[in-house]
Amino acid sequence: MRENSMKDRKTPARIEITQFPKGKRIAVTTSFDDGQIHDRRVVEAFNKWGLKGTFNLNSAKLSRKEQRSDAHIEAAEVAKLFEGHEVAVHTVTHPHLTKLDDAQIVEEVLGDRKALEDLVGYPVRGMAYPYGSYDQHVIDVIRRLGIVYSRTCENDPRHFPAKEPLAWASNGHMFHKDPCPMNEKFEKFYSNQHATGVFFIWGHSYEFDRGNCWDMLEKIFKPISGKPDVWYCTNIELFDYEDARKRLVIAANRQSVYNPSSTTVTVNVDGNLLDIEPGLKVL
Ligand SMILES: [Zn+2]
Repeated sequence: MRENSMKDRKTPARIEITQFPKGKRIAVTTSFDDGQIHDRRVVEAFNKWGLKGTFNLNSAKLSRKEQRSDAHIEAAEVAKLFEGHEVAVHTVTHPHLTKLDDAQIVEEVLGDRKALEDLVGYPVRGMAYPYGSYDQHVIDVIRRLGIVYSRTCENDPRHFPAKEPLAWASNGHMFHKDPCPMNEKFEKFYSNQHATGVFFIWGHSYEFDRGNCWDMLEKIFKPISGKPDVWYCTNIELFDYEDARKRLVIAANRQSVYNPSSTTVTVNVDGNLLDIEPGLKVL
């Protein structure tokens, strides 16, 4: 009987590995640099709208008892403030990495990584280059430091999957207006029902304050939020899902799927979405 039931089970005609969890069509991710106090206001709004952010911090600039700063957030508030978001490396002191020797590059990146991990309690694996400044030599040095991706200041709508994750571009800075403001750019992308991919915006929270334009926070980001077919994710969640989907093993007879990663991957089995949790799934 058991043998029969194995044989009788209908073999799926096709199993597709979806690009994003739950078969979502588009992924939206954001990042903000420098860890200034205005990050608080961005996080508050994002939590309300369901957006996710990656916050790239300079550990030596954070406000501490021994080194007060009015401009930067407190080291002690980092874990709580950015809960549900991602904390990532922006180097210890914000230098031009291209002007440093290997030892200083390592200190700036690894030192920041360790200091931020002390605050948040998880492995910090993402990064953004200070001033967007990097070259092949910088990439070669940081490749061995456990950094999964590093964001540049370059714009490229086809930035993901990144050919070189340590030179990752974005769709643009939040105030980029060429050929139209970012919220309109997203709307164009989103309203094309065939469009799929990642929409990635970056900026600094202090730019809203400096430009006296806090209304722009809502104007740019709120219209991007709340879409049912969009996955709102941090930068590292995007890379982790991509990594997990590449490692998914589908049996040649299409009767089982093995997920060796720790990230749930969604597959499309003959038109039906199915979550494959870590481990073996017999279909
Ligand atoms: Zn910066």
